[in-house]
Amino acid sequence: MKRIHSSFLSKEEMIELLEKPAFDKVILGTGGRSKVKETFGEDLSAQQVVERIVEDVRRQGNEAVRKYTKLIDGAELTDAMLEVTLAEIESAIAGADKEVLDALEAAVANVRRFHVEQLPKSWFTEREQGAILGQKCTPLDRVGIYVPGGTAAYPSSVIMNAVPAAVAGVKEIIMVVPPSREGNVNPYVLAAAKLAGVTRIFKVGGAQAVAALAFGTETIPKVDKITGPGNIFVTLAKKAVYGHVDIDMLAGPSEILIVADSTADPKYVAADMLSQAEHDVLASSILITDSTELSIKVSKEVDSQLAALARKDIAAQSIDDNGLIIITKDIAEAVELANISAPEHLELLTAEPFKLLPYIRHAGAIFMGHYSPEPLGDYFAGPNHVLPTGGTARFYSVLNVETFMKKTSIIAYTQEALAAVSNQIIKLAEAEGLTAHANAVRLRGN
Ligand code: NAD
Repeated sequence: MKRIHSSFLSKEEMIELLEKPAFDKVILGTGGRSKVKETFGEDLSAQQVVERIVEDVRRQGNEAVRKYTKLIDGAELTDAMLEVTLAEIESAIAGADKEVLDALEAAVANVRRFHVEQLPKSWFTEREQGAILGQKCTPLDRVGIYVPGGTAAYPSSVIMNAVPAAVAGVKEIIMVVPPSREGNVNPYVLAAAKLAGVTRIFKVGGAQAVAALAFGTETIPKVDKITGPGNIFVTLAKKAVYGHVDIDMLAGPSEILIVADSTADPKYVAADMLSQAEHDVLASSILITDSTELSIKVSKEVDSQLAALARKDIAAQSIDDNGLIIITKDIAEAVELANISAPEHLELLTAEPFKLLPYIRHAGAIFMGHYSPEPLGDYFAGPNHVLPTGGTARFYSVLNVETFMKKTSIIAYTQEALAAVSNQIIKLAEAEGLTAHANAVRLRGN
């Protein structure tokens, strides 16, 4: 893994090192490029692939969905097979490990308990002469949730999307998930969907799933908003359909940035870095520390823990391409660099993490201290794991209940209240040259 001292680089070089490329400029790794070549018969960028798929699904509906599901995911499905049946869900639950089901149920309860606290309230306030102003909060009618499933299965992502939507009061929660080559969906993904309150499930992944939700097909309903994490193809597709539907954020390949001092255990640091590296070859794992000794130990520890991982090929590629250790002169500098990176997950493995908290401005989620590892938040604690990546934590928030709601203003004036302000409104309307606006007020008398 690359290891550098911050003093060797200028501020500009450091920014270049830490800032992520824009999503549409991400270069696929060797494996990704050869898969594109094999699938499409030519060298296309991820952006070009997504443009092609989104356009085809928009024009051809199910036919394009089935074509790309066969071509990319290797599953041959008829229109009728695109939707998961009740029987499939029941048989998945019947065959599932009871302890995993219990853990999923506990996770749903924790996530629900946390998100219920986020529910915004409609409110009204009284002004002069009996005028009433307010804000009404309404859940969206129908949302589409993307659950990743290309190289791993994510029942946890089902929970993290569907539970806040259900808490918000969304009536129809449409889930999409890539099928296996045999046309199946992971049983725990189906079990989680039932526990979390998903309405309908479709077997489609990648850009074709996002496009199907955005434009609707003969089988898959068009939704108002698409949420959820995914790989680069999913993220670019969400970006492409934004405006036809709303989206939550750009939640692409996972990232972790750890700020650690000499009190950190190198074994914990390495394990946490690898926990993100194993998601995707494009995932990124960064350690920033003021301890040279820790940096050396972590580097060795990553190599030794890697060997035993089930997904060691993906994790090793990710660490090789995007792993980084930076040694700073002190922890204040480490925090400054973390803000430049604006990571999805930020861990503060320091003696007094709460002392650093006021200085952190940009991160999707912050994990405080030696006993709050990132997987605690991924699966169980309650806060959401759908988080902005690629530096977009500078302006996006974590997925939450309000993601699934909208706010509408309420204005209720009495005749007296309107009369008291009509002169000023008429002046403003006439200053804008909008005489019909002025008339609408003048006609009501002043
Ligand atoms: P995925 O469902 O995101 O992607 C799989 C789909 O990508 C496939 O169905 C396929 O249609 C499409 N695809 C794959 N290769 C393609 C190609 N060459 N051309 C066109 N389409 C192609 O599942 P995944 O790949 O396992 O990725 C999951 C992603 O989600 C990871 O990047 C992980 O880091 C990320 N993630 C992010 C968060 C977050 O909150 N930011 C949370 C969990 C997971």
